[in-house]
Amino acid sequence: MSFQFIKKKLVHPLQHLQPTCCVFCQQRQAQPICYFCLNALRENLNYRQCLICGKPNLTWVCKACANASWSFDQTVALANETSRLMATVKAFHYHGHFSQMVSILYAWKILISKRITPVDLIIPFPEDVKISQERGFWSALELAKKWSRLTKTPYISDLLTYHSKESNVSKYSVFYPFKINTELLSIFSITNFRIAVILPHMQKPHLLHETAKLLKAHGARYVINWVLIRDCTKERG
Ligand SMILES: [Zn+2]
Ligand SMILES: [Zn+2]
Repeated sequence: MSFQFIKKKLVHPLQHLQPTCCVFCQQRQAQPICYFCLNALRENLNYRQCLICGKPNLTWVCKACANASWSFDQTVALANETSRLMATVKAFHYHGHFSQMVSILYAWKILISKRITPVDLIIPFPEDVKISQERGFWSALELAKKWSRLTKTPYISDLLTYHSKESNVSKYSVFYPFKINTELLSIFSITNFRIAVILPHMQKPHLLHETAKLLKAHGARYVINWVLIRDCTKERG
């Protein structure tokens, strides 16, 4: 066990014991985000977004979604890449600052919870095992655990798995990055389920399309993406 690992284990619980401050302006107060900063987030959220892919857009459905038929039905995003939440989500997602989850969860609870329809199952967006091992955690799974408690909905972490490109036999064959656990499906049916796929950072809809396609092929009725940050910078360029 490395020193860094032990240090992380010790420092984070201590941060929870400190007096709560607003994550953005550092004002000492009872909530993880103060009234003013929460309002700023709310305004940021009031931009119109495409119902299907969550991209900022002036109409309900963007041009790309009108032409492409994605397998998922809806995307709910807490913020976009211009939001001040971006740094908070990055600290959690890339660097494992789990204490940041308190403010992310709080923002979701206040700003998003009432807008979304209930689901039957939560699935963390599959990640390459190598990446999870390097970081020491799988952030989508950590989100699934918390959101499962918040929405009183069960989550399953081993229904969908990611397999890296090297495991494919031929380099010319079509690459399908996700696999569904058919063994699990033989004892646990997802027929007619409404499923939420949760992930911290969504850049392009293509991978989410693949996960939704698999879930629907095995009986899911409705697939919704729950996203913390909907990043559109790469798509524009
Ligand atoms: Zn504040
Ligand atoms: Zn769209």
